[in-house]
Amino acid sequence: MNITIAIDGPAGSGKGTLAKELAKKYNLINIDTGATYRCVALKTIRENIDINETDKIIEISKNIQIELKEDGTVLMDGEEVTKEIRSKEVTTIVSPISSIVEVRKNMVEIQRKIAANNNVVMEGRDITTIVLPNAKYKFYLDAELESRAKRRYKENLEKGIDMTYEEIYENIKKRDYNDMNKEVGALKRTDEQVYIDTTNLTIEEEVEIIGKIIEGDKDEKIDR
Ligand code: C5P
Repeated sequence: MNITIAIDGPAGSGKGTLAKELAKKYNLINIDTGATYRCVALKTIRENIDINETDKIIEISKNIQIELKEDGTVLMDGEEVTKEIRSKEVTTIVSPISSIVEVRKNMVEIQRKIAANNNVVMEGRDITTIVLPNAKYKFYLDAELESRAKRRYKENLEKGIDMTYEEIYENIKKRDYNDMNKEVGALKRTDEQVYIDTTNLTIEEEVEIIGKIIEGDKDEKIDR
Protein backbone atom coordinates (compact mmCIF):
# COMPACT_ATOMS: atom_id res chain seq x y z
CA MET A 1 0.00 0.00 0.00
CA ASN A 2 1.29 3.48 -0.89
CA ILE A 3 1.14 5.87 2.01
CA THR A 4 2.04 9.53 2.29
CA ILE A 5 1.31 11.10 5.64
CA ALA A 6 1.66 14.86 6.15
CA ILE A 7 1.57 16.29 9.66
CA ASP A 8 1.57 19.97 10.58
CA GLY A 9 1.33 21.64 13.96
CA PRO A 10 3.04 24.03 16.36
CA ALA A 11 6.22 23.31 18.34
CA GLY A 12 5.77 20.68 21.02
CA SER A 13 2.47 19.33 19.69
CA GLY A 14 3.99 15.84 19.45
CA LYS A 15 4.55 15.67 15.68
CA GLY A 16 8.07 14.27 15.98
CA THR A 17 7.17 11.43 18.35
CA LEU A 18 4.08 10.55 16.38
CA ALA A 19 5.93 10.55 13.05
CA LYS A 20 8.57 8.23 14.50
CA GLU A 21 5.93 5.73 15.66
CA LEU A 22 4.02 5.86 12.36
CA ALA A 23 7.25 5.35 10.41
CA LYS A 24 7.92 2.18 12.44
CA LYS A 25 4.38 0.86 12.18
CA TYR A 26 3.89 1.45 8.44
CA ASN A 27 7.51 1.17 7.29
CA LEU A 28 7.75 4.78 6.11
CA ILE A 29 10.65 7.18 5.78
CA ASN A 30 10.36 9.80 8.49
CA ILE A 31 11.21 13.36 7.42
CA ASP A 32 11.59 16.03 10.11
CA THR A 33 11.48 19.20 8.01
CA GLY A 34 12.23 21.46 10.99
CA ALA A 35 15.71 19.91 11.01
CA THR A 36 16.42 21.42 7.57
CA TYR A 37 15.66 24.96 8.79
CA ARG A 38 17.66 24.28 11.95
CA CYS A 39 20.70 23.36 9.83
CA VAL A 40 20.50 26.70 8.00
CA ALA A 41 20.25 28.47 11.37
CA LEU A 42 23.25 26.57 12.75
CA LYS A 43 25.39 27.43 9.74
CA THR A 44 24.34 31.09 10.02
CA ILE A 45 25.57 31.13 13.63
CA ARG A 46 28.80 29.33 12.83
CA GLU A 47 29.62 31.79 10.05
CA ASN A 48 28.90 34.76 12.33
CA ILE A 49 26.23 36.05 10.00
CA ASP A 50 23.69 38.47 11.41
CA ILE A 51 20.03 37.51 11.19
CA ASN A 52 19.43 40.63 9.06
CA GLU A 53 21.99 39.66 6.42
CA THR A 54 19.31 37.99 4.34
CA ASP A 55 21.39 37.58 1.16
CA LYS A 56 24.10 35.66 2.99
CA ILE A 57 21.53 33.40 4.66
CA ILE A 58 19.89 32.70 1.29
CA GLU A 59 23.33 31.80 -0.09
CA ILE A 60 23.82 29.32 2.77
CA SER A 61 20.44 27.73 2.06
CA LYS A 62 21.37 27.34 -1.63
CA ASN A 63 24.60 25.48 -1.02
CA ILE A 64 24.01 23.56 2.20
CA GLN A 65 24.02 19.75 2.04
CA ILE A 66 21.52 18.14 4.39
CA GLU A 67 21.01 14.44 5.00
CA LEU A 68 18.29 13.08 7.25
CA LYS A 69 19.12 9.48 8.16
CA GLU A 70 16.49 6.88 8.98
CA ASP A 71 17.65 6.63 12.60
CA GLY A 72 17.09 10.39 13.10
CA THR A 73 20.73 11.39 12.63
CA VAL A 74 21.11 14.75 10.86
CA LEU A 75 24.18 15.50 8.72
CA MET A 76 25.06 19.03 7.63
CA ASP A 77 27.73 19.20 4.94
CA GLY A 78 28.70 15.69 6.00
CA GLU A 79 29.06 16.50 9.71
CA GLU A 80 26.75 15.09 12.38
CA VAL A 81 24.78 17.94 13.99
CA THR A 82 21.81 16.01 15.43
CA LYS A 83 22.16 17.49 18.90
CA GLU A 84 23.64 20.85 18.02
CA ILE A 85 20.63 21.88 15.91
CA ARG A 86 18.45 21.63 19.06
CA SER A 87 20.54 24.15 21.02
CA LYS A 88 19.07 27.30 22.55
CA GLU A 89 20.96 29.49 20.07
CA VAL A 90 19.55 27.67 17.04
CA THR A 91 16.05 27.47 18.53
CA THR A 92 16.08 31.24 19.09
CA ILE A 93 16.80 32.24 15.48
CA VAL A 94 15.30 29.39 13.44
CA SER A 95 11.81 30.84 13.06
CA PRO A 96 12.87 34.24 11.63
CA ILE A 97 15.30 32.43 9.32
CA SER A 98 12.53 30.17 8.09
CA SER A 99 10.46 33.28 7.26
CA ILE A 100 12.88 34.19 4.44
CA VAL A 101 10.96 33.20 1.32
CA GLU A 102 14.04 32.12 -0.68
CA VAL A 103 15.25 29.96 2.19
CA ARG A 104 11.87 28.23 2.23
CA LYS A 105 12.05 27.60 -1.51
CA ASN A 106 15.42 25.90 -1.12
CA MET A 107 14.37 23.82 1.89
CA VAL A 108 11.13 22.70 0.25
CA GLU A 109 13.18 21.49 -2.72
CA ILE A 110 15.43 19.44 -0.41
CA GLN A 111 12.39 18.02 1.45
CA ARG A 112 10.57 17.03 -1.76
CA LYS A 113 13.71 15.38 -3.11
CA ILE A 114 13.93 13.15 -0.02
CA ALA A 115 10.23 12.30 -0.35
CA ALA A 116 10.35 11.51 -4.06
CA ASN A 117 9.52 7.87 -4.85
CA ASN A 118 9.28 6.93 -1.18
CA ASN A 119 6.49 6.21 1.24
CA VAL A 120 6.93 8.95 3.80
CA VAL A 121 5.63 10.52 6.93
CA MET A 122 6.67 14.16 6.87
CA GLU A 123 6.14 16.68 9.65
CA GLY A 124 6.49 20.46 9.87
CA ARG A 125 4.40 23.60 9.43
CA ASP A 126 3.53 23.71 5.70
CA ILE A 127 3.59 20.04 4.74
CA THR A 128 -0.15 19.58 4.24
CA THR A 129 -0.45 22.89 2.37
CA ILE A 130 2.76 23.43 0.36
CA VAL A 131 5.33 20.64 0.50
CA LEU A 132 3.02 17.65 -0.08
CA PRO A 133 -0.36 19.11 -1.03
CA ASN A 134 -1.38 15.80 -2.63
CA ALA A 135 -0.66 13.69 0.46
CA LYS A 136 -3.44 11.21 1.05
CA TYR A 137 -3.44 11.67 4.81
CA LYS A 138 -3.21 15.12 6.36
CA PHE A 139 -3.18 15.87 10.06
CA TYR A 140 -2.95 18.98 12.21
CA LEU A 141 -1.64 18.24 15.69
CA ASP A 142 -2.24 20.71 18.47
CA ALA A 143 -2.05 21.03 22.25
CA GLU A 144 -2.31 23.78 24.82
CA LEU A 145 0.78 26.00 25.01
CA GLU A 146 1.58 25.05 28.59
CA SER A 147 1.42 21.36 27.88
CA ARG A 148 3.63 21.78 24.79
CA ALA A 149 6.21 23.74 26.78
CA LYS A 150 6.21 21.07 29.51
CA ARG A 151 6.76 18.31 26.94
CA ARG A 152 9.62 20.17 25.30
CA TYR A 153 11.19 20.89 28.69
CA LYS A 154 11.10 17.17 29.56
CA GLU A 155 12.53 16.18 26.15
CA ASN A 156 15.31 18.73 26.47
CA LEU A 157 16.26 17.46 29.92
CA GLU A 158 16.54 13.94 28.50
CA LYS A 159 18.69 15.20 25.63
CA GLY A 160 20.86 17.37 27.87
CA ILE A 161 19.76 20.65 26.23
CA ASP A 162 20.11 23.57 28.58
CA MET A 163 16.95 25.75 28.55
CA THR A 164 14.74 26.70 31.49
CA TYR A 165 10.99 26.05 31.38
CA GLU A 166 10.37 29.81 31.17
CA GLU A 167 12.76 30.17 28.22
CA ILE A 168 11.04 27.32 26.40
CA TYR A 169 7.57 28.70 27.11
CA GLU A 170 8.48 32.15 25.78
CA ASN A 171 10.32 30.72 22.77
CA ILE A 172 7.38 28.52 21.76
CA LYS A 173 4.93 31.41 22.19
CA LYS A 174 7.05 33.62 19.95
CA ARG A 175 7.57 30.87 17.36
CA ASP A 176 3.82 30.13 17.31
CA TYR A 177 3.10 33.74 16.43
CA ASN A 178 5.86 33.98 13.84
CA ASP A 179 5.11 30.58 12.28
CA MET A 180 1.39 31.36 11.96
CA ASN A 181 1.97 34.80 10.43
CA LYS A 182 4.55 34.09 7.74
CA GLU A 183 4.15 35.56 4.30
CA VAL A 184 4.80 32.13 2.75
CA GLY A 185 4.50 28.71 4.37
CA ALA A 186 2.54 29.82 7.41
CA LEU A 187 1.22 27.18 9.77
CA LYS A 188 -2.52 27.03 9.20
CA ARG A 189 -5.54 24.85 9.63
CA THR A 190 -7.48 23.74 6.56
CA ASP A 191 -10.58 21.62 5.94
CA GLU A 192 -8.45 18.83 4.47
CA GLN A 193 -6.57 18.14 7.69
CA VAL A 194 -7.82 15.90 10.48
CA TYR A 195 -7.41 17.99 13.64
CA ILE A 196 -6.11 16.18 16.72
CA ASP A 197 -5.71 17.84 20.10
CA THR A 198 -3.01 15.84 21.88
CA THR A 199 -3.19 17.67 25.22
CA ASN A 200 -4.76 14.68 26.97
CA LEU A 201 -3.71 11.86 24.66
CA THR A 202 -0.91 9.35 25.05
CA ILE A 203 1.25 8.52 22.05
CA GLU A 204 -0.42 5.08 21.88
CA GLU A 205 -3.82 6.75 21.66
CA GLU A 206 -2.62 9.07 18.88
CA VAL A 207 -1.23 6.16 16.87
CA GLU A 208 -4.50 4.29 17.37
CA ILE A 209 -6.62 7.22 16.13
CA ILE A 210 -4.46 7.69 13.03
CA GLY A 211 -4.17 3.92 12.47
CA LYS A 212 -7.96 3.67 12.30
CA ILE A 213 -8.09 6.37 9.66
CA ILE A 214 -5.35 4.81 7.55
CA GLU A 215 -6.40 1.21 7.92
CA GLY A 216 -10.05 2.06 7.39
CA ASP A 217 -8.95 3.24 3.99
CA LYS A 218 -6.96 0.18 3.02
CA ASP A 219 -9.16 -0.97 0.18
CA GLU A 220 -9.46 2.41 -1.43
CA LYS A 221 -7.34 3.27 -4.44
CA ILE A 222 -4.72 5.59 -3.04
CA ASP A 223 -3.68 8.66 -5.05
CA ARG A 224 -0.30 10.16 -4.40
O1 C5P B 1 9.79 21.43 14.01
P1 C5P B 1 10.82 22.35 14.67
O2 C5P B 1 10.30 23.00 15.91
O3 C5P B 1 12.14 21.69 14.86
O4 C5P B 1 11.05 23.51 13.60
C1 C5P B 1 11.91 24.60 13.85
C2 C5P B 1 11.38 25.83 13.14
O5 C5P B 1 11.50 25.66 11.74
C3 C5P B 1 9.89 26.15 13.37
O6 C5P B 1 9.68 26.98 14.50
C4 C5P B 1 9.52 26.87 12.11
O7 C5P B 1 9.83 28.24 12.23
C5 C5P B 1 10.43 26.28 11.06
N1 C5P B 1 9.75 25.31 10.21
C6 C5P B 1 9.08 25.80 9.11
N2 C5P B 1 8.48 24.93 8.24
C7 C5P B 1 8.53 23.61 8.45
C8 C5P B 1 9.20 23.10 9.59
C9 C5P B 1 9.79 23.98 10.46
O8 C5P B 1 9.02 27.01 8.90
N3 C5P B 1 7.97 22.79 7.56
